[in-house]
Amino acid sequence: MGIQKVMVIGAGQMGSGIAQVCAQAGYEVKLNDIKQEFFERGLGVITKNLSRDVEKGRKTEDEKAAVLSRISMSLELQDASDVDIIIEAAVENMEIKQSIFKQLDGIAPAHAILATNTSSLPITEIAAVTNRPEQVIGMHFMNPVPVMKLVEIIRGLATTDEVYKAVEEMTTKLSKTPVEVNDFPGFISNRILLPMINEAIYALYEGVATKEAIDDVMKLGMNHPMGPLTLADFIGLDTCLYIMEILHEGLGDSKYRPCPLLRKYVAAGWLGKKSGRGFYVYE
Ligand code: NAD
Repeated sequence: MGIQKVMVIGAGQMGSGIAQVCAQAGYEVKLNDIKQEFFERGLGVITKNLSRDVEKGRKTEDEKAAVLSRISMSLELQDASDVDIIIEAAVENMEIKQSIFKQLDGIAPAHAILATNTSSLPITEIAAVTNRPEQVIGMHFMNPVPVMKLVEIIRGLATTDEVYKAVEEMTTKLSKTPVEVNDFPGFISNRILLPMINEAIYALYEGVATKEAIDDVMKLGMNHPMGPLTLADFIGLDTCLYIMEILHEGLGDSKYRPCPLLRKYVAAGWLGKKSGRGFYVYE
């Protein structure tokens, strides 16, 4: 299965990064969003990233121009009619993703793979609304996409080996490292990361140590580049709570219950860096 033409749905933080790495690897990319201004914002981020690469001597002006020339704007899902793979990176909402996949199933060529960059929703449930569940797969890129090496490739219940192989090959072509994972809540990355963050919040809640002390222990003692409470602020406390709830509900084990302090902060609108206040205050 030769992949040449790619469509990325959603030109936000993740979709713009995915479009950039695909175009850098030589793929023709249609970058889709619901409004032209959202596409332009995404393209602006890509252009800025590429300009930084030029400044640092990692790319030439010609290479930057070549990457940009491979990215085109799409405002209609109908544009999926001639692509080989679609990588969906719209908002994290099951109804929206299922509606996109249902429409794409009727538009995309029969051979096309439908991939989703969801960080927590079941691939199998998204695949179930299509008539090609064997061609639906998870491609979970990490943020920021141009920098981070890992892509978790998640097999839905029906995903075929052929589709898995094609996506694994493409991931390698993007200069990323694919890791195979089965479809269970949180996959591997969030199943391990979020309970650690939640435990750090419990430690703060129970008065085991201050937030700075908790972060210091994990930075200096475990060699983590940032402490779990700082990381939670960067991810967004609402996103952390959402993923803990998915783990709690999907795995049915009380060890995944979100810390009451996390709930309280989210209810207060203390969402981390993006709202100016989480465990820390951001100017
Ligand atoms: P974002 O809010 O930055 O971007 C989402 C984009 O999707 C927006 O531009 C929005 O206009 C667009 N969109 C919404 N509905 C659409 C539709 N029907 N058709 C086309 N475009 C639509 O979000 P993000 O952080 O880029 O996250 C996107 C996906 O990637 C989510 O599923 C998220 O869980 C996943 N993800 C996020 C991260 C992260 O760290 N942010 C990491 C891994 C995976």
